[in-house]
Parts: sequence; structure tokens; C-alpha cells
Amino acid sequence: MQSFLETVNANFDEAAAFTSHPKDLLQQIKICNSVYRFQFPLLTQRGYEVITGWRAEHSQHKLPVKGGIRYSENVTEEEVMALAALMTYKCAVVDVPFGGAKGAVKINPKNYTVQELERITRRYTAELIKKNFIGPGVDVPAPDYGTSAREMAWIADTYQAFHPSQIDSMGCVTGKSVSQGGIRGRLEATGRGIYMGLKEILSIEEDMKRIGLTKGLEGKRIVVQGLGNVGYYAAKFCVEGGCVLIAIAEYDGAIYNPNGLDPEAVAQHRRETGSILNFPGAVNLATSAEALELECDILIPAALEDQITDANVDRIKAKIVAEGANGPVTASAQKKLFNRGVMVIPDIYLNAGGVTVSYFEWLKNLSHVRFGRMQKRYEQMAFEQMINLIEKTTGRSISPTERMMIHGADEVDLVNSGLEETMISAYHQIRSIWCRLDRKVPLRTAAFISAIDKIAASYLELGIFP
Ligand code: NAD
Repeated sequence: MQSFLETVNANFDEAAAFTSHPKDLLQQIKICNSVYRFQFPLLTQRGYEVITGWRAEHSQHKLPVKGGIRYSENVTEEEVMALAALMTYKCAVVDVPFGGAKGAVKINPKNYTVQELERITRRYTAELIKKNFIGPGVDVPAPDYGTSAREMAWIADTYQAFHPSQIDSMGCVTGKSVSQGGIRGRLEATGRGIYMGLKEILSIEEDMKRIGLTKGLEGKRIVVQGLGNVGYYAAKFCVEGGCVLIAIAEYDGAIYNPNGLDPEAVAQHRRETGSILNFPGAVNLATSAEALELECDILIPAALEDQITDANVDRIKAKIVAEGANGPVTASAQKKLFNRGVMVIPDIYLNAGGVTVSYFEWLKNLSHVRFGRMQKRYEQMAFEQMINLIEKTTGRSISPTERMMIHGADEVDLVNSGLEETMISAYHQIRSIWCRLDRKVPLRTAAFISAIDKIAASYLELGIFP
């Protein structure tokens, strides 16, 4: 089987063949600029352990570079490099002015106490500081698989301890909780972005007809793999948007209910019992992998890479595979899906909601002011005056309920509006390339072309590659 990095590079090469950029420039865009691997000791209740960490900075064509930090016992250096590369392309696709990076610590967080995880995170941050691999203008991490706002708060606190007088230090990491300098809407941003992207894609009737689907999300049967941050919010917003969630797969098994599952109730059940299995009204499937092979309209793999491979691709029955996770479909499985007319919506577009709102958080940290603070009341007053004028000139009185809808934009309104604008316009940029190629290539190729062209333009503007 192809490695994850080979898959990413194969996708790049396939797209690069449709561009006319110089070979050396394409090589510069593709390679990973720097990888920092380090090890440090940790004293646990079980004795000393040596912990391995990485930070890969794929491309500094724009600064800072940006990408999540993953805590996983299966992580490898190549995987970190692959994920860093995806971040470069993802930022370009959604016009977030950052280069790509990724970090990882090779641990299973479930095997450590909260105090041990805090010490690991703080030491990991100190290692990055030593080599200038973190900072609001150089490299800005975020959460990823196995990490959350809690780890981001520890990172920000450690960074600030080392840089007490740096005024922009809060911008050294994103995905923080709101009380720690985060932004409203970041927690659910990746899942919300997936929903917004799907809504836009499914609204185009001619594209849906080609894959045998009707227009719109209403009534579409979805299967989600991984009920973590990405999977949970993607499921929640899609269900609220009219989809029927027929199955959820987790690492310890899967549940199925053709009449629909409520993601919030399943998440609550997992909190109470430790597993999604035995959820009332649903049946347990024999294996987690079986859920991916169910008859459905949209399959959302939102757990890990390499989930749809040559081994199971022939049994995938979904009409759309919506990549919530990074790299869930291998390059060779993608080819087979494409040949069968399955629409694969690529990770570098579909899960870019997280980095988009991280960008807003970084802007908020640099500007030191909450979005909406300056204009909210002013907008509200202007709307009220307009309503009063309408009432006066038309003689129609506006009801209290209608009046309640008038309010100035809060931070979360602006964040969600910026996210929606980003997801819609990025999709149309990709789609116009896809249509220019007569839709004879996978959407992923069109998305990579979009990214490569933008990154190439920034190098060419510098005059580095004549
Ligand atoms: P998470 O740790 O919050 O959730 C991952 C979930 O997947 C967990 O519930 C875990 O139990 C489950 N899981 C693990 N192995 C599984 C398996 N074999 N089968 C089924 N379920 C399994 O992680 P996350 O932040 O939701 O990230 C998930 C994926 O999305 C990763 O590929 C990550 O790189 C990508 N991603 C995350 C973000 C973000 O903002 N968090 C943004 C873009 C992409």
C-alpha cells in the first residue's frame, strides 16, 4: 500500500501535470522545507519514558506556517510531513495566507494522566521555542487528532512564560478556548465548514444528476466515521440541515439505525458508558469497518488517514465520499472511486473550516479586540432607525418577533459568515477548474491545481523562479 506521504505526492503530481509551471518550482512547492524531531524524558508513575515529538514546516512561502498537533501512538515522521504538505495546499485553496506545518507527539493520550499530558505539552512547546518553531509570526499550531483547546491553552501559557513582553504572544497558537484568547465558533468550525461545503456542492443540480443524486441535503443518508471534534460537528450540522445519520463508526465498533441517529444523544451515551455501542434503538454492527460499506448517499470519514484503500474500496457504496479527516482515501482507491463515478470531496477543501477560523482567531489575537465589538451597537441602532422609517412610511407595524431578528453582528455571526463565504467561494474556484477540464479529473485534482497555481504565483512574484 502507498504511504500517506506517497498518496499526497501522487495527488500533487497528478495535478501538477495540468499546470505549466517550471519543474524546479513544482519541486520546491512539493518538498517539505524542514522537519524537527526531538526526544525528551518524562517521569511517570511507571518510571522514566522517552517521548518523541516532531514539527514539520512544509512551506514558508507565506508566514507564519500553520498546522495542528497530533497526539497518537501510531504517528510517524512521514505522516507528519504528509499532513504538513496538506496544510500548505489547504491554506492556499481557501486563501488563508499561511504556509503549511504539522506537529505530533508519539503517545496515546489515554495512557497518561492530565498532569502528565500537561508536562508533555509544556516540554514539547519548550522544544519548539528553542528552535524557533513556534511564534505568532513564524509557526502557529492548532488542535488535531488527540488534542483540544486544553493543550492549546498549555502551549499559549508556556510560550508566554518564555516571552513575557511579547505583545502578540497569544497569536502563537489557535484553537484556544474563548476564555484563553480563542474565538467563538472555532470549536465547531471544521464540522460546520464540512456542512457548508456539502450544502453548496449538493445545491448544484447538474453535478448531482451526474452521480444519481437529487439536489439538496434534505433526506440524504449519511454515515460518519469518528465521533470526535470533526465527525461530531459535521454530523450535528448535517442532521440539522436535513440529512439522516444512519450509522456512526468508532474505533471500538459501529452503530446503525436506518431511521436516523441523533449525534448529540449518541455523544451523551458515550460520555455515560464509555462507548457508542448499545445505543438505544440502534443495532451494533459486527465491525467498525462495516459501517463504511453501508448503502448511503454521503460517507464522511472523519477519523484518520488511509481508511478507504484497495482493500475495501470495491465495497464502498456511497455516492459521495466527503473527506472530513486528512487523507482518508488512498490515491489508488481514489482512482477506482473516480472510475465508478463516486464524487470524492477532497480534504484540502472540505475540512479547511478549522484553519479558516484559526486564521480569524490569529487576526483577533493580533488586533487585541473581539470581532463585532466596535460596530455591533452602531449596526443595531442603524437597523432600528431603518425599521422605524419603514413603519412610518408604509404604515405597517413591525411585530416584536420581527424586531428581535434585528441585531448587530456578534463575533460568532461574523466568524460563521466569514467561514461560509470562504467555503462557498473556494468551492467555486475549484469547480471552475474542474469544469474547464470537462470534469474528466477528480475534484481533488482541481483543488490541487487551484493550490499549486496560487503558491506558484507567490514564488513567481518574488522573482525566485523566472
Ligand atoms: P478527535 O481526536 O477529536 O476525534 C477522532 C475520533 O476518531 C475519536 O472519537 C476516535 O475515537 C475516533 N477514531 C479513532 N480511530 C478510529 C477508527 N479506526 N475508526 C473509527 N473511529 C476512530 O480528532 P479530530 O480533531 O476530530 O480529527 C479527526 C481527523 O480530522 C484527523 O484526520 C484530523 O487531522 C482531521 N482534521 C481535524 C481538524 C480539527 O479542527 N480538529 C481540522 C481539519 C482536519
